[in-house]
Amino acid sequence: MQYLSTRGDATPRRFSEILLEGLAPDGGLYLPAHYPRVGTAALARWRGLSYAELAFEVLSLYIDDIAPAELRALVAKTYNAHIFGTLEITPLKALGTGLSLLGLSNGPTLAFKDVAMQLLGNLFEYELKRRGEQMNILGATSGDTGSAAEYAMRGKQGVRVFMLSPKGRMSPFQQAQMFSLQDANIHNIAVEGVFDDCQDIVKAVSNDLDFKRRHKIGTVNSINWARLLAQVVYYFSGYFQATASNDQWVSFAVPSGNFGNICAGHVARCMGLPIRQLVLATNENDVLDEFFRTGTYRVRKSAETYETSSPSMDISKASNFERFVFDLLGRDSARVRELFAQSLEREGTFTLDATARAQLPSFGFVSGSSTHADRLATISDVYRQHGVMVDPHTADGLKVAREYLAPDVPMIVLETAQPVKFADTIHEALGRAPTRPAALEGIERLPRRFAVMPADVNSVKQYIAEHAL
Ligand SMILES: *Cc1c(COP(=O)(O)O)cnc(C)c1O
Repeated sequence: MQYLSTRGDATPRRFSEILLEGLAPDGGLYLPAHYPRVGTAALARWRGLSYAELAFEVLSLYIDDIAPAELRALVAKTYNAHIFGTLEITPLKALGTGLSLLGLSNGPTLAFKDVAMQLLGNLFEYELKRRGEQMNILGATSGDTGSAAEYAMRGKQGVRVFMLSPKGRMSPFQQAQMFSLQDANIHNIAVEGVFDDCQDIVKAVSNDLDFKRRHKIGTVNSINWARLLAQVVYYFSGYFQATASNDQWVSFAVPSGNFGNICAGHVARCMGLPIRQLVLATNENDVLDEFFRTGTYRVRKSAETYETSSPSMDISKASNFERFVFDLLGRDSARVRELFAQSLEREGTFTLDATARAQLPSFGFVSGSSTHADRLATISDVYRQHGVMVDPHTADGLKVAREYLAPDVPMIVLETAQPVKFADTIHEALGRAPTRPAALEGIERLPRRFAVMPADVNSVKQYIAEHAL
């Protein structure tokens, strides 16, 4: 399989060449040259597979430069009950008839990002060893992504992580999760500032190309193709669990921020998985809902980006969205460049022309948004009706899913985090504390390991220079 850029750079690249990369050199995102079709024979064979076997089959279609036996071993090391608590990895739970939750948050940090990030950790370690190279991962986090990256990279050979977070601004649970890690290759840096300061420092360090090269700085952000690919697997798993035969259709509802999770659903649908609708749910930051309703994509300024009670969906623009637009426009990279490198850069917005808009329905997307009040009502209602506690992000997905229920088409809502991560909102909705997995009892009391630093690029650079591989 060859990979190309959404902005036209057609230098042939294979999976291992793009694995450790962020953006393509022309500023675009990497995509496979085509989506392999999974026919009825393959679907029939896959239905009986375990999650790890299924993951191997899906990944093999896109990764042909890692020997099958080695890929199989990497997958087996990732998708097992030891790491994800159950052999199903992503078990399906019914909520009455026609509606179910696909549990994606059974990994070590209790959010769906673990499903992809745990694989990425093993792939990075494998590829760096093969090349005889090392990497220092630099990132900024306000919570979920940073902890998933740290739990994926902890103890890995050839990798160090430097993760900036705004001091005292993450939830107590998130701080405990990250700062209690004692692994020598994990460096938590609490910056005296807000999340934007952390992000600005990461950008400034990455823009210093000499420093970046000298210290082998890399990232694990949400535009990484391997992360997206790993997420394709659970759409197949969810489909097999929700149906009895491969002539049935399902719909998926996805709480969305950077468009990574639902983009994996788009890829699964393009591969031939019988998905009727991809229901995109946003919170009050409704950039993507606006696009699917009107055909206009308008990124928000920071002042227009709200802090909500589903914080992992608080985005001003959706970093993976360009991948979908590339497919929507029939893979016309000149047009993508025009929209993303010109219109969006210049005016902060673009509008699809009539031809492109006419194509939208054939991609299966519908959308809706959810507010704080909707979130509380949904959490409370699901708890009362089904005795199931859902987190605020999953509640956004459920709220919008219910607007698109259709008879005879099972609706699968992706559960993206566990309620314990967002105790305040659960308390507000239910008047009680969320249930907590036994393994995480008392993590707030564990010893912590982190450095405190002013919001200053040079201090961070000096720290990295002293501690990098
Ligand atoms: C990251 C995240 C999302 C948003 O996923 P995208 O891939 O960015 O669309 C939703 N819910 C939770 C809990 C998350 O951590």
